[in-house]
Amino acid sequence: MASLDELREQLDQIDRALLEALARRREVVEHVIRTKETEADFVRDQDREEALLTARVSLGRELGLDSYFVTKIFQQVLDHSLRIQRDHLVAEQNPDVEHDAVRIGYQGTEGAYSHEAARKHFASRLDHAFFRGYPTFRELMEGVQAGGLDFAIVPIENTTAGSINEAYDLLARFPVSVIGEEVLAIDHCLVALEKVPLGNIRRIYSHPLAIAQCGDFLAGLPECKVESAPDTAMAVERIKRANDLSQAVIASEEVARMHGLEILKRRIANRRDNYTRFVVVAREAMSYDARIPCKTSLILATKHEEGALVRCLNTLAAHHLSMTKLESRPRPNVPWEYLFYIDIEGNVTDPEVSAAIDELSRDVSFLKVLGSYPASTTESARPSVPKLGAAADSSDTKPAQAPAPKTKKAAVAASADTTPPLEVAIKKGYKLASRAHHPDDSVVRIGDVLVGGDDFVVMAGPCSVESWDQVRACAELVRDQGGQVLRGGVFKPRTSTYSFQGLGYEGLDLLVRAGEEFGLPVVTEVMHPADVQRVAEDADVLQVGARNMQNFALLREIGHVDRPVLLKRGAMSSIDELLAASEYLLAAGNHQVMLCERGIRTFETATRFTLDIGAVPVLKERTHLPVIVDPSHAAGVRQYVIPLAEAAVAAGADGIIVEFHPAPEEALSDGPQALTFEGFGELMQRLHRLTQALRSE
Ligand code: PEP
Ligand code: MN
Repeated sequence: MASLDELREQLDQIDRALLEALARRREVVEHVIRTKETEADFVRDQDREEALLTARVSLGRELGLDSYFVTKIFQQVLDHSLRIQRDHLVAEQNPDVEHDAVRIGYQGTEGAYSHEAARKHFASRLDHAFFRGYPTFRELMEGVQAGGLDFAIVPIENTTAGSINEAYDLLARFPVSVIGEEVLAIDHCLVALEKVPLGNIRRIYSHPLAIAQCGDFLAGLPECKVESAPDTAMAVERIKRANDLSQAVIASEEVARMHGLEILKRRIANRRDNYTRFVVVAREAMSYDARIPCKTSLILATKHEEGALVRCLNTLAAHHLSMTKLESRPRPNVPWEYLFYIDIEGNVTDPEVSAAIDELSRDVSFLKVLGSYPASTTESARPSVPKLGAAADSSDTKPAQAPAPKTKKAAVAASADTTPPLEVAIKKGYKLASRAHHPDDSVVRIGDVLVGGDDFVVMAGPCSVESWDQVRACAELVRDQGGQVLRGGVFKPRTSTYSFQGLGYEGLDLLVRAGEEFGLPVVTEVMHPADVQRVAEDADVLQVGARNMQNFALLREIGHVDRPVLLKRGAMSSIDELLAASEYLLAAGNHQVMLCERGIRTFETATRFTLDIGAVPVLKERTHLPVIVDPSHAAGVRQYVIPLAEAAVAAGADGIIVEFHPAPEEALSDGPQALTFEGFGELMQRLHRLTQALRSE
């Protein structure tokens, strides 16, 4: 047996080899960019990234490494190589810009989110970057204007609290350009001098932006006085000086670590997905290679003429420019007039963008082009993911080429002559849901997952959330096998009142935590209208169960929230009744509706219900909404689940929702129909093969 010291020595050597390999990889990447300069059109090739990840995950599996881990590592490796390639191109195109020693300013003090964002943005130049915190945004801008700073990073909007007005106003006032953007996930924590119970806290200090993002949490502490501080570090200073255990600060984990403070509670922002977008500002604009997907930011004031803003927006549309942001701010010194801040996808060097800017100038009384810069928030900036089922299929190291196709669907959707006319649909109780009203397929977005688009989506997990260990293991498997959404019931519609009724909100917390740990959005059933708002805060998709398909009070309530919904077909409901039920959701305002065929009651007793596979093409013809199939509840026994799931692919469904369990015989609900972990792996492998076979057809 090796001693602990010997083992540590081995780890040191392995880590050294890893770092040497990464350094070698970096050298190769630098050669790649030189080759791409002459040979390729794109700096980023997402198909190749997906193929690479798929192959790495397969190889990792052969070597006994879990695919979630391998995916995370290689996403970082790919991101790093992309940044190197980008920096190389930028340096090449902007020979006058200082690339060696750069002075970068941010607002706040060391450890502030702005500091973290700056370090992230300039990660490839950390060796020769000097970061300096400034007390105010204005001083930052002055620093850039006067030349004391090469760059400044300024937060511009937050996904919870919205736009940061002061930053927008300063961009208009100072002669600066935007040369980059950075997105940072913000995890606010409540931190204190010692680990005291939350109930002991009487005073909380923080930056006003953080206070705004944590409003719900703070509202739950009515005994507490909340005070704003110019920055987090000052707030920390204050509680340290007071040496008072009843005081706390809202800060990042990084700040807690730097100052040796205790975290009383994590994730206290109103929304789980809390991101801040920063812009990087410099005196002069920079040029970016046409191969880097860019955004362009403009500030304009329209002429005081009727319809001027609409004409400006039409100009952008006429040039096929997608607008990613429109913000208005009062125009200084001109009461009741506004400055409009517009971000569009594209680079000022694109002919369409420059033509649009030319045309805009006809309708504006002020127009400032802030600059073009590599986009971090658009589709092109999302990390690639390995392909469906690839993890299970370790024999297949050939890269997947394209997303799993949705076979017959397109053909059905395209045959406009068979789409029932609008009047027919209206007679049956649905208009907004009808294909006649909305000929194109609707795509529902669940985080990064698109349902109804090109990919076949797999939602999977246990029937009921039973414990942390159970749901965590399920989440890990969904992730490992390339599933996209984690399912788990916490409010269970049980036929018998003596059966397990679900863990309720406690279960929802476990489900959400497991989803977060493995980067999976979650779907869960909500049964009572009174629970809708609260469940919608945490779950990514609300499921309406078969028994509640015509619970109109529930449908209306869900119709008012901004969350995707999976509406299951009642066991004794017709296809048109399902569509009429979906109309309740749409008419109330929620258009993120997915329909689910889960089996209907017939005279047949060999299966729990009868999967009406024919409903898939019928629905595809009558509605634009995505269609999901639930083979588990239809079959009722596990041996029929895989064939029914395969039938769903062949019939043109957009995805499946399927149940599995670590120990089906011990499951608290629906054990007989739950796949084993192995069975789920087999299902994913078969779906992978089937979608590949259909693709090559
Ligand atoms: C479920 O998905 O857990 C469920 C109860 O399904 P259904 O409403 O289709 O019976
Ligand atoms: Mn179930």
